[in-house]
Amino acid sequence: MKIAVAGTGYVGLVTGVCLASKGHKVTCVDVDENKVKKMQRGESPIYEPGLPELMKESMENLIFTTDYKSAYQDADVIFIGVGTPEKYDGSANLTYVFQVAKQIAQTAEKHCVVVLKSTVPIGTNDKIESYIHNKQVNDVKIYVASNPEFLSQGTAVHDTLHASRIVIGVTEEYPADVLKQVYENFDAPKLVVERRSAEMIKYASNDFLALKISYINEIANLCETVGADIEEVTAGMGFDERIGHRFLKSGIGYGGSCFPKDTKALNWFANFNDNELRTIKAAIEVNENQKFKLVKKAKKYYNDFLFLNVAILGCTFKPGTDDLREAPSLVNIPILMEDGAYIRVWDPVGQENFKKCFPEKIQYCSCIEDAIAGADLCLILTEWGEVKEFDIKKYEELMKHPIVLDGRNCYNLSDFANTRITYDSIGRRTVN
Ligand code: NAD
Repeated sequence: MKIAVAGTGYVGLVTGVCLASKGHKVTCVDVDENKVKKMQRGESPIYEPGLPELMKESMENLIFTTDYKSAYQDADVIFIGVGTPEKYDGSANLTYVFQVAKQIAQTAEKHCVVVLKSTVPIGTNDKIESYIHNKQVNDVKIYVASNPEFLSQGTAVHDTLHASRIVIGVTEEYPADVLKQVYENFDAPKLVVERRSAEMIKYASNDFLALKISYINEIANLCETVGADIEEVTAGMGFDERIGHRFLKSGIGYGGSCFPKDTKALNWFANFNDNELRTIKAAIEVNENQKFKLVKKAKKYYNDFLFLNVAILGCTFKPGTDDLREAPSLVNIPILMEDGAYIRVWDPVGQENFKKCFPEKIQYCSCIEDAIAGADLCLILTEWGEVKEFDIKKYEELMKHPIVLDGRNCYNLSDFANTRITYDSIGRRTVN
């Protein structure tokens, strides 16, 4: 099948490469010329484990271009995987999705199925369908189907090849049949539903996970106050199959390109439709506060941060990605810098992107040891494997004042028992 994919971000590129690996001929379109040039050389513009290898293996089925006309004019299926970022009022910005819809309307020369993979508010597929039908130049049948994406950055290739489910939202049979063919060789349950239900499944799933994280973070905060240990509490809770162990990890809140914007977008959308999502509103509020937890903790140890050397371990919103969108580092580091702290940052893959946001005043380190040497304070913002496996004795040996504030609970409390290290984490007692 001849497939086009609009947008080569975390969703579009992974989708395109995985479809090509299954034998489809895929043309990936992006407006970013530099990205396209990189991909034409066989290089991935994003950090995603397993993606460069699969891309290389599948190059014979892949074309990368900025020329959307050549991609859309004779495609059987056109996936839209462009961004739907947050607008100032919290609603989803659909500009990029409509831009692609316009380009398809102007160029499609044969019957095709347009598939919305981007996360969009309920009813958007209907609007895209009318928009295309009103603007289309050629007399061809253009179907619109919803096929929301559930991959997680860091495990995106695996999540696509072995998806928990493939949701196909349609108003008629033909596009469902086409999508079943597209995904024929994908090992995943396929669920055909109403188009509006498909759009809602995506938001309801993401917002439920965000809710779970905010819930456990509130319980963690209470644990700290009343002397319980959140790690023991979640271990005990997780054995209940109705709850499960996953997404019960307390920390300094969720970030990334999805949970923050998708909670706000659904909340906005519900209000717009005269509904109130009180649970989602609470999840958003809890997460906003949780982000600043370590800076608040730091005030227990220092009245102000003037001339303090602060080591930051991790700046991406989670391990396994170079993505900084809505990462706690973006709001915490400026606070420390404004208060006069000297910052040293270590991150195994996110550092280059971080440098683009903060080119000055921050010292970037190639190893954890360099970041913590002589530091008065160390903040762990991302639970990279290197941090979890780090020999904790080095905090004592290398830091001037060994105070470690761990926003991701990377270590066992008992590890710090016979040390001079002050170890303050989330939802647990402080050691030393
Ligand atoms: P991204 O920002 O990484 O990538 C979007 C890409 O689209 C960019 O490369 C941009 O240059 C390109 N683009 C913009 N306009 C274009 C146009 N007219 N034609 C072609 N390309 C164009 O975005 P992402 O993280 O991949 O997310 C895409 C969508 O998928 C969003 O709606 C998001 O909510 C949803 N989603 C994301 C994830 C995730 O983990 N990132 C998971 C599930 C769903």
